Parts: sequence; structure tokens; C-alpha cells
Amino acid sequence: LPEEFQLALPVMNQIERAGFEAYFVGGSVRDVLLGHKIHDVDIATSAFPAEIKAIFPRTIDIGIAHGTVLVLQHDEQYEVTTFRTESTYQDFRRPDQVEFVRSLTEDLKRRDFTINAFALKDDGEIVDLFDGLIDLQEHVLRAVGNPHERFHEDALRMMRGLRFVSQLGFSFENETFDAINENHALLEKISVERIYVEFDKLLLGKFRNQAVRFLVETECYLYCPGLRHYGEALLRFADLKPLIFTTSKQAWTVLVEQMGIGQNLIRPFLKKWKASNELIQKVQALHWGLKIRQEKPLTNWEIYQLGLKNSLAVEELVTFYNLTPDLEKIKNQYEALPIKQLRDLAINGNDLLQSIDLKPGKWLKEILGQLEYQVVTKDLKNDSKVLLDKAQELLQAGDDK
Ligand code: ATP
Ligand code: MG
Repeated sequence: LPEEFQLALPVMNQIERAGFEAYFVGGSVRDVLLGHKIHDVDIATSAFPAEIKAIFPRTIDIGIAHGTVLVLQHDEQYEVTTFRTESTYQDFRRPDQVEFVRSLTEDLKRRDFTINAFALKDDGEIVDLFDGLIDLQEHVLRAVGNPHERFHEDALRMMRGLRFVSQLGFSFENETFDAINENHALLEKISVERIYVEFDKLLLGKFRNQAVRFLVETECYLYCPGLRHYGEALLRFADLKPLIFTTSKQAWTVLVEQMGIGQNLIRPFLKKWKASNELIQKVQALHWGLKIRQEKPLTNWEIYQLGLKNSLAVEELVTFYNLTPDLEKIKNQYEALPIKQLRDLAINGNDLLQSIDLKPGKWLKEILGQLEYQVVTKDLKNDSKVLLDKAQELLQAGDDK
């Protein structure tokens, strides 16, 4: 057993000593079998949530309705979820209520793909009811049971499948693929938030290009926010170099760029996805920088406006446009900036008001902006006397006009 599982063994064993079954399940078992790094260890158990809470002194209810209790032990935390079925599906969406059961088999049957339906015992034995090990070896994504039924129960599974294509480089088994093809319109019933999570992961996967091709081919893209009219753009996006995006902001920036979404339409597009304001602002900044960088290297003033992180993020992206990134140059340019932010200017608004006999107004911001620009471009020294003199001069010139 890998270290992450070893660490969790005491939790498993405590559940077993109380007379219940416990197994490692879900993505971590899949990833261990693939030799990939694992992030979170999930435990499934025949014990009901109240029974888990009776066993462990420190627990947090993080999803009691779905049977999940967080067990805290030795600075670690483990999601312990009761075996359950999700038999009462309505509207092609995940049910709000689930039924707890004592049977591992029932629990594994409700999982999406065979490679996600393993259970691993504390002695290392793998429970593989659906021949997931063969699929794992053959790099196949196969729905557990009848794919039509499974996508009718929860249409998100189709997007999850595309996301796993991107992360793992697997292909769909034929019937599973056909079922996605036929049922793509069911995605209409799925909340934007859930689609967003999967699509974002899809964008960051190593095999993104293949996943995007499947997204278009199966027509699932028609039911993704704002993508409906962009089938061809998506295929162009899928023809970009097969480099991995290191951040979501970079992925979305290139997507938006390939779709030809103008600077002003980035916000409305990302709002459809219910993206965070933070992401929206970063994509706006990166897209602005990228458009400039496609034409010519970034100037000091542009790097100043973007900040170091975003400037580097833009520079990294030029590889997609057959340019050679020069990250060192960006770092050096940034280091050499006389100021890094307006706050670093030798004078502020108050200083201006004290030395110039004018009421506060629009002029203040304008003058400060001009001084900032000229200091960044090294036309002016960042020195209070120099700046105040320049301010007088600029106001004078403005009056003379
Ligand atoms: P990741 O490595 O990204 O966490 P994962 O496979 O662990 O991938 P999770 O969303 O963490 O995905 O879900 C854990 C497990 O729960 C899955 O492996 C799968 O067995 C099951 N599962 C999750 N979502 C669904 C779903 N919509 N339908 C059926 N089973 C699901
Ligand atoms: Mg997981």
C-alpha cells in the first residue's frame, strides 16, 4: 500500500474493529493503480454516519445527507462515506437524497466508470466487480452497467468522462461513446457549476486536445455555456500544441482567444460559466497582454500594468503562437522597473494638494497618472522635487491650451 493509504489504515481498522466494513474507493485507488500521484483518500464503509461519529472523537459533518463524515486523526483528515445507492433519480440529475446500504456491491454499482469503481481492502486486495482492471490496462473508459441508463440518471457523467479522457488519455468504449453521442442534450439539465468543475479540469488535462475533439464530436459542447456557436473554434483550439496549461487562467485565456471573444465580451462569457470575479479579472488581464504580445514583446509599461505574475503567465502562452518565450527577459524588465506600483511613487495625492493651490478634482488623478507613466518609462526620476516640478509644468501646459 502507498504511504497515503498506510497513514489511513488506523482509521480503517478502527471502523473494522467496531464491526463494520471499510475500503479505499474512488479516484485514489484508480490513480495508485496507474502509478499516478494521489490527492485525497476516500474511504467507503458499511457503517452509517451516526455510527462513524460514535467511533471517532473528532469528526465534521461535511455532507451528512450524502453520507459523508470527515474524520480527523493525527493532523490528517479522511472522508468516510457510507455505502449508498442513488436509485431515485429525477430530471437526469444527481438525487438530493440517497439511501444508505450495508452492501459494498450496491455502492460500487452506482459509480460512473469501471476504473472508478474499485474498492481496496486494508490487506491490499482489490475488489473489481466490473473488470475495471482490464479497462485500466487497455486505457478504456466504460460506464458501469448500461451507459444509457447511467447517463440518464446523472448526465454530468458524460462531462466527467470527457474530463477523464483529458486527464488520463483514455478512450471511450464504443457503447459508452455512443451513449454520450445520443444523450448529450441531457446536459441541459445539469447546473452550470457542476459542468464548470469538469470543464475546468478538462482544460488542464494532459490530453486536452483529444478531450476537446470528443467534446465537439459528441456535441456535448452545445450544452456548455457560451460554446454553442463555436464548434470550429474549439477544433482549432484542439489543434494547438499539446502543452499542458499550468493554470486555469491561462487555459481560459487561450480558449477565449481562439474563440475570438473580444476583450469586452470576456466578462459576459465567463459570467455564463459563473466563473469567479478573480478568474474573470485575470483572464481579462492575460488576454489583454497576450493580444499585445502576439504582435511584439511587452514594454516596461505593459509589464508594470500586468504585474510580474501575469506578465510571466502571458509570456508562457506565446509558445502556443509559435513564438519563443523569454521569461528571464520579463523578470529582468520587471526587476528594473523604477516603481512596481502607484504606491511606490515618491509623491501621492496629498503631496500634490499641499504644493498646488487647487481644489481636489479630476486633475489630481490625471496628473498622478502622467507622473506614474513617466517614472515607469524612465522619462522622470522618482524624486519628490522632480515630480512636483513636473506636476506644476503639466498643469501650466494644460491651462495654456
Ligand atoms: P479526482 O481524482 O479528480 O478526485 P475522482 O474519480 O476521485 O477524481 P470524485 O469527484 O472525487 O472523482 O469522486 C469520487 C468517486 O465517486 C469517483 O471515483 C466515482 O467512483 C464516484 N463518483 C463521483 N461522481 C460521480 C457521479 N456523478 N456518478 C457516479 N459516480 C460518481
Ligand atoms: Mg476524488
